[in-house]
Amino acid sequence: MGWLFPRLLATVLSVLLAATVGWLIGAVWQWPVIGALTGAVAGAFAYSLIDALRVQRFMHWLRHQGGEPAPRDAGFWGEVGYRVERSLRSLERQVDTEQNRLEQFLSAIEASPNGVVLLDENDQIVWCNSVGADHFGLDPQRDRMQAITNLVRAPIFVAYMQAGVFDEAVSFPGPGARGTVSVLIRPYGDGMKLVLSQDITERERNDSMRRGFVANVSHEIRTPLTVLSGFIETMSSLQLSEVERRRVIELMAQQAQRMLLLVGDLLTLAQLEGSPRPAADRWVPVQPLLKQVHSSAEALSAGRHTLLFSDPSISEGGGDLIAGAEQELHSAVSNLVNNAIRYTPTGGVVQVSWSIRGDGVGELEVRDSGIGIAREHLPRLTERFYRVDGSRSRDTGGTGLGLSIVKHVAQRHGGELEIRSEPGKGSSFKLTFPAARVRAAARPGELPQTTVALTHSGEDAHVAIS
Ligand code: ADP
Repeated sequence: MGWLFPRLLATVLSVLLAATVGWLIGAVWQWPVIGALTGAVAGAFAYSLIDALRVQRFMHWLRHQGGEPAPRDAGFWGEVGYRVERSLRSLERQVDTEQNRLEQFLSAIEASPNGVVLLDENDQIVWCNSVGADHFGLDPQRDRMQAITNLVRAPIFVAYMQAGVFDEAVSFPGPGARGTVSVLIRPYGDGMKLVLSQDITERERNDSMRRGFVANVSHEIRTPLTVLSGFIETMSSLQLSEVERRRVIELMAQQAQRMLLLVGDLLTLAQLEGSPRPAADRWVPVQPLLKQVHSSAEALSAGRHTLLFSDPSISEGGGDLIAGAEQELHSAVSNLVNNAIRYTPTGGVVQVSWSIRGDGVGELEVRDSGIGIAREHLPRLTERFYRVDGSRSRDTGGTGLGLSIVKHVAQRHGGELEIRSEPGKGSSFKLTFPAARVRAAARPGELPQTTVALTHSGEDAHVAIS
C-alpha cells in the first residue's frame, strides 16, 4: 500500500493547484468560487487524461514488449512498469535455465547407446532419440504424436503393449528384419510410458555361435568315445586272437589320438582368444622356424610328396625376423603345411616360401598341387569345424580347427590369411605380416647397419660397436 498515499497526494495537490489557478482567474471577473470549481474539475480531468495516457503506453508495452524496457514514467505507472519488467526478466531467465537443462537432458538421452521413446497416456509418441527411431523404424519429427502401435506393427510388440504387463522385456525382429530388438517398458507419471530398446543382434549371434560350438565339440568328442567304448566292450566280451587284439588296440590308440588332437586344438584356440596380443618387440627368426616345420613335414609326408622349402639360410630371406609369439607362428605354419600334405595326393608338390615385399610386408606362402577347394567353400574355411569333405578330414587326422587357429594367429600378429584355390589344381595359403612386425636381415651386397656407442666413466672412454 506504499503507493496509495503518494498517488492520493498527487491527485489532491493537482486538483488543489488547478482550483487555486481557477480561483485566481475567476477573481479577475468577480467569480472566484466558480473559477475555483472549474479549475478543480479541469485539474482532475487533466490528471485523469495524463494517467490514461500512461496506462495506454504501459498497456502497449505489455502487449508488444519484444525485449524493450518498460516506459520510464514518474510515479505510479513508472513503478508498475519497473516491477512488471523485473518480474518478466526473472521469469525469462528461469525459463532459459529450464530450457537449457531440458536440452542437456535430451542430448544425454540422445547420446545413449540404447533407444528411448516417451509415450503419453494414449501411447502416442512424445519424443524419441535417434537410436530408438532406428530400432523402431520411426521418424522422430514426422511420427510425433502418432500412436506407437500404428507404426510398430510387430505382433509381439503389439501384444506386449495391449497386455500392459511390463515385468519382462520382449524381443522381436527389427524394421526390415535387420536384426533383433529387445524392448522393455517402464510406466511413469500419469499413465505415461518409457520405452527402452536395445539391439541384441550381436548377442543373439554370439549365443547361437556358442551353442553351435558346444554342439560341435560334443559331437566331435562323442564319435571317438563311442568307437572306443565299442572296442572296450568287444575286448571284454569276446575272446580275441593275438592279431585281432593288436588290431583293436591300434584302432583304440587312433581314436584316443584323435581326441587328444581335438582337445589340443581346442586349448590352443581358447588360449589364442583369451590372451593379450603377442608383443611387437619379441623377434622370432624365420629360418629356424621353417626348418622345424620342414622336418615334421618330411615325417608326415613319408616321402610321398616333393617338399620344396625356400631355405632361408641361403635365400634372400635369410636371417629375417617376425615380431610375435614363436609358438603361435609355429602352430600356424605347421597347420598350413600339414593341410597341404594331407590334401595333396601322393606324387604332388608342396612348396613353402618366405619373402619380404618392397613395402616391407612379410609373406609366408604354402602352396600345394593338391585336390583344391571349390570357390563357394573359400569364405567359410576358417570357421570352426568347417570342412569341405568331413570324412577325408577325419581320416587324415583333421580336427576342423586348423585354419581357424591360423586365422587367429594371423590377426593377433596384425596380419591376414589369404586363400586361393582351384579344384583339381591346388591351393595357396598366404600369411602376411605388417611391415612393423617384420625385420629384414642385411641382403648380400648391402652394408650391415652398425651402431657405435661411446661412453665415458671417469677417466675411461668405452666404444661399443654392434
Ligand atoms: P581340417 O582339420 O579338417 O583340415 P582345417 O581347418 O585345417 O580343418 O581346414 C578346413 C577345411 O579346409 C578342411 O577340412 C579341408 O576341407 C579344407 N582344406 C584346408 N587346407 C586345404 C588344402 N591345402 N587343400 C584342400 N583343402 C584344404
